[in-house]
Amino acid sequence: MAILEILHFPDPRLRKVTEPITVFDDALSRFIDDMFETMYDAPGVGLAATQVGDTRRVAVMDCSEDKTERIVMCNPRILRSEDEEIVDEGCLSVPDHYDRVTRATRLRFAAADRDGHEYEMDAEGLLAQCVQHELAHLDGGLYVDKLSRLKRERIRRKLVKAARQADGADAK
Ligand code: ZN
Repeated sequence: MAILEILHFPDPRLRKVTEPITVFDDALSRFIDDMFETMYDAPGVGLAATQVGDTRRVAVMDCSEDKTERIVMCNPRILRSEDEEIVDEGCLSVPDHYDRVTRATRLRFAAADRDGHEYEMDAEGLLAQCVQHELAHLDGGLYVDKLSRLKRERIRRKLVKAARQADGADAK
């Protein structure tokens, strides 16, 4: 297993729309293991392939307290959702920033597991929020898209500056 590099906003690779998975092989399974390891290491509760520069339509999640409820979503889609709430949200690709966004409170989604077996699941609260967040990633979206242009630009400038400083530190 390996820890993958997580891309940061405004990296253009985060805007790629992923392609549906048609082959469920060992290579995909290894990639999913790497995604879990990367997500737990970060630490985060969800990670989409887009965030590690891959265009396969897969995301992983674990919203449990004790990190024992791994969920793999290949080719996920939301079947229905209901109610809305304003929640605090963050993203491993937008480090050190949190903001309030509107998300559906409850939803039902369908996806395939790493072996290609289709399943459906009900989600609410943090898990429902996470499903919506990861699905947006798979279509090149980020939660900062839901914020005002002014806020998004402020975050962008901060992260570009931070990346420059990190590059400078590496060079020394
Ligand atoms: Zn994210």
